[in-house]
Amino acid sequence: MEDKICQSCGMPMSERDDSVGTNFDGTMSSEYCSSCYHLGEFTLDVTFEELVEEMYQLLLEDENHWEEDEAREYIVDHLSKLRRWKKSEPTVELYDNPKANENEV
Ligand SMILES: [Zn+2]
Repeated sequence: MEDKICQSCGMPMSERDDSVGTNFDGTMSSEYCSSCYHLGEFTLDVTFEELVEEMYQLLLEDENHWEEDEAREYIVDHLSKLRRWKKSEPTVELYDNPKANENEV
C-alpha cells in the first residue's frame, strides 16, 4: 500500500498505526491524519503561518543538519502543496455535506 501524507500537516500516515483521521461517520479519512482531523472536523485551528512556525520548531529539533532558512523554505513549499492550504480549491466543504453522495444507487 502506498504511503499517504496528511493534506493538512504533511506528516506521513498509515492505516496500520492509527495515524489516520476519521470522517464524520467514523470511517478513515484518506486525506488527513488523526492529529489534524477527527470525526470530520479539523482538530487544529491553526493558520498556515502558525503551522509553518510549529513545523519549523520541530524540524530544527529533529533534524539538526537543517540550515534555518532552508528549513523554513522547505516547510512553506511542502505545506503549500497540501490540499488544506491551497487557496483555490474547496476542502472542508466536501465533508460538510454528508448527504451529498448518499443517494447514488
Ligand atoms: Zn495532519
